[in-house]
Amino acid sequence: MTSDLNILPLDSWLSSEKEPLIIAGPCSAETEIQVMETALALANIPNVKVFRAGIWKPRTRPKLFEGVGSIGLQWLKRVKEETGLLTTVEVATPEHVEECLKNNIDILWIGARTAVNPFSVQEIADSLKGVDIPVIIKNPVNPDVQLWLGVIERFYQAGINKIIAVHRGFYDFENSPYRNAPIWEIPIELKRLCPQVPIFCDPSHIAGRTDLLSEISQKALDLEMSGLMIETHCNPAKALTDAKQQLTPAQLNDLIGHLVLRKSTGNIEFQNKLEELRSEIDCIDKDLINILSKRMSVVEEIAKYKKENDITILQIKRWTNIINNRLKEAESKGLNQEFLLKLLQLVHKYSIQLQNEIINKD
Ligand code: PEP
Ligand code: MN
Repeated sequence: MTSDLNILPLDSWLSSEKEPLIIAGPCSAETEIQVMETALALANIPNVKVFRAGIWKPRTRPKLFEGVGSIGLQWLKRVKEETGLLTTVEVATPEHVEECLKNNIDILWIGARTAVNPFSVQEIADSLKGVDIPVIIKNPVNPDVQLWLGVIERFYQAGINKIIAVHRGFYDFENSPYRNAPIWEIPIELKRLCPQVPIFCDPSHIAGRTDLLSEISQKALDLEMSGLMIETHCNPAKALTDAKQQLTPAQLNDLIGHLVLRKSTGNIEFQNKLEELRSEIDCIDKDLINILSKRMSVVEEIAKYKKENDITILQIKRWTNIINNRLKEAESKGLNQEFLLKLLQLVHKYSIQLQNEIINKD
């Protein structure tokens, strides 16, 4: 189901002097000096329009630094007055919202750990009824596009029409170089379901370390994301939270300088050639669908035949042979083996499902 929300275009309420648009600032506000020093340096970067800082921090274990609390909001007020940057803070309860509104915070943000909980989200959304304030919505920690869309819808229903969704990666129990694995298909699917919602990327929480930030940021821009949220601290090594992933303002400036901004459309000649190639893809996809449908018909026949003869669905020897043989074939054609393996597993999963339905039908 696509979502037909009348969310305002980003450039009607937020833009920067230079692209890409950047939201930057420390993971946590720690001291007034740290906040001001970071903000004053960031204000010199024309891409940075919004200053972020966590005031109430969701921590995995108790007794870790849980943020400075409301006092930090005074520091953000100073940031706004002295730098002209807009300010954004994570809110997880209606009380946080109330404090932020009292202190003129410009934009609220919903963290990944709050986004997973529809009760919390609804409570926060309810507390914003009648308030005109933008809300940044991080993806929930688990990779569920419907859950993410649900958060957007809850705020929209409460009357919020300035919304940014942020891809900050997903919890992943596999070993990966990332703190939170990026699953780019999910923000792409969100965009398909709800094209009006601008999507940013938060490479800091995806990477969990600084050396991966530029490649993730570039990838986000190449996927037409509207901006980046990057954690920035005047002295990252001393940061009380997320020390490993924060950049200094100078490092952020350098990272931005190396990003390549590509256009989303080209000249007529380019467009014509692109159209030609796209129609080739259209034909190939049609063939693929025909072939898959033919394959499923044969699977159906096999299922009936197995049923008549009381034979189990899964024949592991046959499946192992298929994998080995197809992967060899793929290699000879220069196809990525991991890609083919995933594709075969998916095809196999649905073949088994179909056989299961047929064999268990009386
Ligand atoms: C943060 O931005 O500091 C933060 C806590 O992010 P997330 O909710 O994405 O983990
Ligand atoms: Mn953080």
